[in-house]
Amino acid sequence: MTILVTGGAGYIGSHTIIELHKANHNVIVVDNLSNSSKESIKRVEEISGKSVKFYEYNILDQNKLKEVFKENKIDTVIHFAAFKAVGESVSKPLKYYHNNIAGTVSLLEVMSEFHVKNIIFSSSATVYGDPVSVPIDESFSLSVTNPYGRTKLMMEEILGDVFRADNSWNIVILRYFNPVGAHKSGRIGEDPNGIPNNLMPYISQVAVGKQKELSIFGDDYPTVDGTGVRDYIHVVDLAYGHVMALKKIEDRSGLNIYNLGTGKGYSVLETLHAFELACGKKLNYKISDRRAGDIASCYALPNKAEKELEWTATREIDEMCEDAWRWQTKNPNGYKSGK
Ligand code: NAD
Ligand code: UDP
Repeated sequence: MTILVTGGAGYIGSHTIIELHKANHNVIVVDNLSNSSKESIKRVEEISGKSVKFYEYNILDQNKLKEVFKENKIDTVIHFAAFKAVGESVSKPLKYYHNNIAGTVSLLEVMSEFHVKNIIFSSSATVYGDPVSVPIDESFSLSVTNPYGRTKLMMEEILGDVFRADNSWNIVILRYFNPVGAHKSGRIGEDPNGIPNNLMPYISQVAVGKQKELSIFGDDYPTVDGTGVRDYIHVVDLAYGHVMALKKIEDRSGLNIYNLGTGKGYSVLETLHAFELACGKKLNYKISDRRAGDIASCYALPNKAEKELEWTATREIDEMCEDAWRWQTKNPNGYKSGK
């Protein structure tokens, strides 16, 4: 199949292209490089030995998008392109609503015009808000606490409306838990701008000496050791989930929603200790105040994806840390580190 990957130069997109190539799909990328570098695509091509047709376009620009649909016979779109920084979304909500919601609507309109009605959408466990219990299954009630999360929830609702109005659409909504790690080669990985907001990239930067110490946001949560618990999933497992989700699109089975997580939760301290083992040194940390909007525990019940997509995450926390560490040491300044 020919797959259009929006946001394909980004963290999850770049890993997904490699899995798509392995499964013999053709890949076309639209990315405006607002949070990524063309270098990731170059390295993806080097890893998979296959080329990627790349368009440096903004999905908000319908004329450009139409060119892509005219020039290529696209079967399915995997839609990653979005802004994702929770903190920034609080201070710049309109930037997020414009890019994530108007951007997706722009894409859906062009898809509809070209009769391409197959889409896999990147949602997030953030749509579960503060869950009443863990593990979380897909039937849990939804609520969000910040504009980024609201863009994901609104998009889920918009996709639901699109499907109800025209059930020839095939839509898979994937709710990712916490993607971490990197490709085994150490050639592609997560390359955050500035100081990382997320735990694993922050720990990696402490380990490589770019940050002095980790601030642990609260140690008084009702968890195993008082620190927040999350379901960290290896980005390669997550990427493979998209290949399996394509089969659901091929089945033409309408609108389906899946959690992509491991089903296991790790606390901040447990994650830090796993990383210490991977990098072979003790890492400095201090306990600080809780971060506004954080929840105590969040991990998936991944049974639905296991049953219906025949997908399950296979990589453990030690491998996630080893792979994140390899990427960090080989590329201390991300893609700016050069060859
Ligand atoms: P990323 O920022 O690395 O990748 C997103 C890509 O989209 C970037 O390459 C960026 O340049 C591109 N992009 C953004 N707006 C665009 C636009 N208007 N037109 C064209 N390209 C545009 O992020 P990621 O971590 O790879 O996340 C991919 C998707 O998964 C996002 O939708 C994100 O919300 C979702 N998600 C991510 C996480 C996570 O922790 N990384 C968790 C849950 C969901
Ligand atoms: N966290 C932390 N220090 C940091 C970054 C994150 O203690 O510098 C904690 C955070 O409070 C949460 C966990 O690590 O309990 C995962 O945070 P992340 O931002 O990576 O993911 P999210 O909270 O969005 O699930």
